[in-house]
Amino acid sequence: MSAAFIGIYGGTFDPVHLGHVSAARDIQEKLSLDTVQMVLSANPPHRKKPVLSSEDRFKLLTLALNEETGLQADDCEMQRQGPSYMVDTLRYYRQQKPKASLVLILGMEAFNGLQSWHEWENIIGLAHIVVTDRAGFDNVLKPALKEYVTPYLTDDKAQLKKLTHGKICYQPVDSVAVSATDIRQQIAEGKSVQHMLAESCWKMIQQQKFYTPLN
Ligand code: ATP
Repeated sequence: MSAAFIGIYGGTFDPVHLGHVSAARDIQEKLSLDTVQMVLSANPPHRKKPVLSSEDRFKLLTLALNEETGLQADDCEMQRQGPSYMVDTLRYYRQQKPKASLVLILGMEAFNGLQSWHEWENIIGLAHIVVTDRAGFDNVLKPALKEYVTPYLTDDKAQLKKLTHGKICYQPVDSVAVSATDIRQQIAEGKSVQHMLAESCWKMIQQQKFYTPLN
């Protein structure tokens, strides 16, 4: 049996939306990943505190992925104290699955922020990085990252499965121009965002009055 081929897709998921799910599904199919683990960033270190608790964000994530066969909600960062650093999540996966090929999946705008991440230079020693495009963004690599990327870059996707870590490649995806920021803002303005979310998530958001300002 060949070693596992695992995608890791991190996000604040405040809330998870169709942009996340369709990109993760598409990349799973295009790379033939065994699974994509959707890892909830419990305490994201590089941004404003999320509006919803990690528990509520995780409930929504679980609902959104309920009928997705290749995508799994992962709460490993909720089990740790302190800031949710991706490098720690990758170390945790590496410990659990020493022979697996791990693929960190990042939208280009997230990848462009890589150098601000905790221990960012250690990430490529733990996983491959696959960079996707994202509708509504310019999807251009930041000049400051070009030199860093060059020695790891490959067009040969077969390398990702052959090696356990250490390659970077670009993979265009079916991207939906949606962001969690827009969703939160539209709900706060009393608008429907039903078309941007899984139906079960939209129902829970309405029932719980998530993102609706208190009067
Ligand atoms: P926010 O608006 O609150 O910043 P977001 O919608 O950008 O949230 P995150 O949870 O910050 O979502 O994103 C996590 C990951 O999902 C990043 O790698 C990001 O590039 C990717 N992503 C988010 N939205 C989309 C989308 N519409 N299409 C493709 N990738 C996306």
